[in-house]
Amino acid sequence: MSAVCALGTRRLLRQLRSGPPAAAAAAAMLRRYSLDVSAPLLRTQGYVDGRWVSAASAFPVLDPATGQEIARVSDCGPAEAKQAVDAAYTAFQSWKRSTAKERSVLLRKWFDLLLLHKEDLAKLITFECGKPLRESLGEVAYSASFLEWFSEEARRVYGDLVPAPAKDRKILLLKQPVGVASIITPWNFPSAMITRKVGAALAAGCTVVVKPAEDTPLSALALAELAEQAGIPAGVFNVVPCSREKTPSVGEVLCTDPLVAKISFTGSTATGKVLLKMAADTVKKASMELGGHAPFIVFDSADLDKAVGGAMASKFRNSGQTCVCSNRFLVQSGIYDRFVERLGQAMDAELRVGHGSEPDTTQGPLINTKAAEKVVQQISDAVSQGAKVLKGGKRLHGSFMEPTLLADVTTDMLCTKEETFGPLVPVIRFNTEEEALAVANAANVGLAGYFYSQDVSQIWRVAEELEVGMVGVNEGLLSTPEASFGGVKQSGLGREGSKYGIDEYLEVKYMCFGGLKA
Ligand code: NAD
Repeated sequence: MSAVCALGTRRLLRQLRSGPPAAAAAAAMLRRYSLDVSAPLLRTQGYVDGRWVSAASAFPVLDPATGQEIARVSDCGPAEAKQAVDAAYTAFQSWKRSTAKERSVLLRKWFDLLLLHKEDLAKLITFECGKPLRESLGEVAYSASFLEWFSEEARRVYGDLVPAPAKDRKILLLKQPVGVASIITPWNFPSAMITRKVGAALAAGCTVVVKPAEDTPLSALALAELAEQAGIPAGVFNVVPCSREKTPSVGEVLCTDPLVAKISFTGSTATGKVLLKMAADTVKKASMELGGHAPFIVFDSADLDKAVGGAMASKFRNSGQTCVCSNRFLVQSGIYDRFVERLGQAMDAELRVGHGSEPDTTQGPLINTKAAEKVVQQISDAVSQGAKVLKGGKRLHGSFMEPTLLADVTTDMLCTKEETFGPLVPVIRFNTEEEALAVANAANVGLAGYFYSQDVSQIWRVAEELEVGMVGVNEGLLSTPEASFGGVKQSGLGREGSKYGIDEYLEVKYMCFGGLKA
């Protein structure tokens, strides 16, 4: 299919397989897709108490497109995690006493530096998680926007003076930071998931220990470098990168240490449950941004062009690997055939598979081969139950997947029962609004949902009835720092971004002033 264009990496593999005569050309290709080791923001040690720290061993970070090692990073263990928690606790004692204005100014400096270094950071993101460079640049802008937003919100943490029921009393509700927050993040938005949490935490007066995903420690360490340059005090922002092997023991420290007051996690629902259980023993506060299974509903009255545009935007960002990606397409019978045809045309016209650093790539690899195998399994299950493959359907080399369009999908198929996290569009036909809502709400998760309709009454009904935390009405892209991000059901606890995001890092203290004389 035309969506699968010149794959630079395919050529590379062919050359590598063809033996010594092609070695020079292969080496040139490898250089072409190599991360420059002198990349200005490339840091490979942990960052604890304002110092770069090595661990006893190091773990490799791989480019998911080529499988090449791009860096070796200090493999922090429980000892480094404990040092980071202790440093954060010590730093909290002074950070909580800084003024809101002081915290705001530092966050703003960090924001400015992120924008100044956007190309350098974007390159690291592309090499460690595979996404096309222009998406990585978009991620850096999105990531920076949380530092800007929370630098502003830091100065608006108001308490309340509440009318008292007795004449001799005054009631004050004061907001105070909760303390040290452990922050555990996924690989798909390795910079934005950190600043969305850390921006709120630091603005509130909390200090943090970040454990980035094993696949993507480089963006987190680059953020630490910029935090240091911005003048964020030692111990306020700590990063403990670690391998998959060390993750459980580091996670245990971060979720059980009595000096940690709060955990904030973004990742799968299964991992979120493990972390919540660990945090229960010391009754830590918890924010959880977990898995989604977003419905994308197209009603007969929809504007077809807009619906197709929204479907492309909400499905194929990061090759389908975002928690708010549309995962189940429900299309009403009157518009079904036209929608499927037009979506197929848009996929042919707009999608280009390749290495993320190629300028025309829109679809990078999936994060690893296991992720690609999951998509293949969903496709073969659907086909075995009668679904038709209209586009794609196959895994390419490594973890590259063809963007895939499936028609005649039913709710019995695996792809409509679980999150895909890949470039697969399964389209289900429905007849009535009630039927669409019943299918959409049957999931035990509820993060984002999208629908297209031009019937005003239907718009209100459906927007209210969808069991999700975020609704796109005739819109396929929702995320912005001004709005609340989060889900219902098993998609998580709490909200990030918006004026509510900072509350996740604040306690309300009630002060009762008694015995006052009039
Ligand atoms: P994951 O749960 O496998 O990993 C996320 C993070 O948890 C990683 O840093 C990993 O190292 C860490 N982790 C795993 N086990 C741990 C343990 N025992 N202790 C401490 N840390 C541990 O998820 P993933 O594959 O990286 O991300 C994909 C999932 O994340 C999808 O389900 C997606 O929907 C979800 N997600 C949700 C949001 C959101 O905002 N709701 C955003 C992005 C991704």
